[in-house]
Amino acid sequence: MLKKNDIYEITIEDMGKDGEGIGHIDGMTVFVKDTVVGDRASVKLMKVKKNLAFARLMEILEPSADRVTPVCENARACGGCTLQHISYEKQKELKQAHVRNCLARIGGLSDVDARMEPLIGMEEPFHYRNKMQFPIGEDSAGKPQLGFYAGHTHSLIPLSDCPMGHPVNRYILSRFREYLTEAHIPVYHEETHEGLVRHLLTRVGFATGEVMVCVVINGRKLPRKELLMGKLQEALEEWNRIGSGEGTPGFGEHLRLASVNCSVNEEKTNRILGFRSFTVYGKDCIEDRIGTVQFRISPESFFQVNPLQTVRLYQKALEYAGLTGSETVWDMYCGIGTISLFLAKKAGRVFGVEIVPQAIENAKENAELNQIGNADFFVGKAEDVVPRLYAEDPERYRADVVVVDPPRKGCDAALLETLAAMSPDRIVYVSCDPATLARDIKILCEDGYAVEKVTPVDMFPGSMHVETVALIERI
Ligand code: SAH
Repeated sequence: MLKKNDIYEITIEDMGKDGEGIGHIDGMTVFVKDTVVGDRASVKLMKVKKNLAFARLMEILEPSADRVTPVCENARACGGCTLQHISYEKQKELKQAHVRNCLARIGGLSDVDARMEPLIGMEEPFHYRNKMQFPIGEDSAGKPQLGFYAGHTHSLIPLSDCPMGHPVNRYILSRFREYLTEAHIPVYHEETHEGLVRHLLTRVGFATGEVMVCVVINGRKLPRKELLMGKLQEALEEWNRIGSGEGTPGFGEHLRLASVNCSVNEEKTNRILGFRSFTVYGKDCIEDRIGTVQFRISPESFFQVNPLQTVRLYQKALEYAGLTGSETVWDMYCGIGTISLFLAKKAGRVFGVEIVPQAIENAKENAELNQIGNADFFVGKAEDVVPRLYAEDPERYRADVVVVDPPRKGCDAALLETLAAMSPDRIVYVSCDPATLARDIKILCEDGYAVEKVTPVDMFPGSMHVETVALIERI
C-alpha cells in the first residue's frame, strides 16, 4: 500500500498533458512535476488516490538525456515555467505529440499523422514575452519586493529579472523598487485589502521600441509621480547605455518610455487590471507592428505576447486561408483586429467580431492607422452577433473563409452551428488549447468538413502551452 510521505525510487516513462512526468510504483500511476521521461528519481508521495498518486521530486538519481539545467534559478518554484528543466528540442517534441494526441483521441482524426506539419519553434527560446506582470509584496523585513507567485499560490517569490521577458525589465524592476522604498509607498495586502500598489505591468513594442509601464493601484492617485518618472527614465537610459549592448541578440533596439499609466483596481479580486486607467506620462497606449501592420495597444487590450512567433503564426493562418483578393473573410474573436488586419490586404472584405468594446475601438483605430478600408468590426458575442447579421443579410455577411481564434474554452456550440449554416470553403482555426480544438473539429467534421493540415506553433517556450493553426475544408 502506498502511503503519503513515503519515499520511493521511480523511473519516468511518459509525460502528462501539463508537462509532468509519469511513472509507476507498485503498479500505481504516479505524477511527478519537474521530471522528464528517462529520469530516475527519488520522490516523496504527497497525495495518494484510488488509482493514481502525486509525488514531489526529492533528488535526481540518474538524469534523462533530455534534462538540462534551467536558466532561471526560480524555475522550479515559479508558477510560470514548467518545462525549463527539459531541453528545447524535447519541449518541441512534447508539444507536437500533445497536439497530435488530442486530435487523434478527442477529435477522432484517423489520419492525423498525414495532416500534421512540424511545430514552428523559436531559434532562441528566451526573452520572448513583450508583456510581463509582476505582483508587488514585501519581504519579512517589510521591504517592497516585485516578483512572481509560486505555482498555484499567492506567495511571492522576489525576482530581479525573468528570462522569458524582455531584458529591459531588469532595469525597470530595480528602479521601481527604489521608487517604492524612497517614496514609502504602501504595498497592497490581499488579506486585509489595504495598501496601494498591487501589480506592475510592462509592455515593450519589439518592433517600435516603445515601452509602457502600468502601475495597478488600490486607490485613485499615485504619490510622487515625478520621482517615479525620473526612476523609469533612468532605467531606460541604463538599458540603452548598458543593457542593449550586452550582446543579447535581437535586443539592440533603442527603447523609449512612451506611456506610464495607472490602472485603478479597488476590488477584492484575483483579476489584475481594474476597469479604469489614467495616464501619468506620455500616451495612453503604445504602438507595435506585426509584419507590416501597425497596432495601437492600450493597457486593457489583449495583444499576442510573443511577437516573433505571432508573425509566423499569422503567416501560417494567411497561407491556410488561401486568399486571392476577392474573398469575404470573418475573423471571430478578433481582439484588436490583429488577424483581421493582417488578412485584409489579401482579402476582398473582412468582418471582425469581439466581445470587449475597447478592443473593437482599438480594432477600428488600427484599421484607420493602417489605411485599411475593407474591414468592419462588431462588438458582442460571436455566437449572438454572427447568426443575427447572417440572418439579416446573408449576401453581405456570407463567408468564403472564416478564421476563429477563441479563448481556451473553444468555440460556442451556437457559433459552430452558424458556421455550418454559412458553409465557408475554409475554416482556419487558431487555438490555444488543443483539447478544445479537437472537440470543435469533431463537431465540424460531423457537419461536412475535414481537417486538411495542422501546424503547432510554440508561442510559450518553457511552458506546456502550445498554439495550433488548423485548416478545415468543406468536403
Ligand atoms: N485574434 C486576436 C484575439 C484572440 S484572444 C489576436 O490574435 O490578438 C480571444 C479573444 O476572444 C479575446 O479578445 C476575447 O475578449 C474574445 N472573446 C471571448 N469570448 C468571446 C465571445 N463569446 N465572442 C467574441 N469574442 C470573444
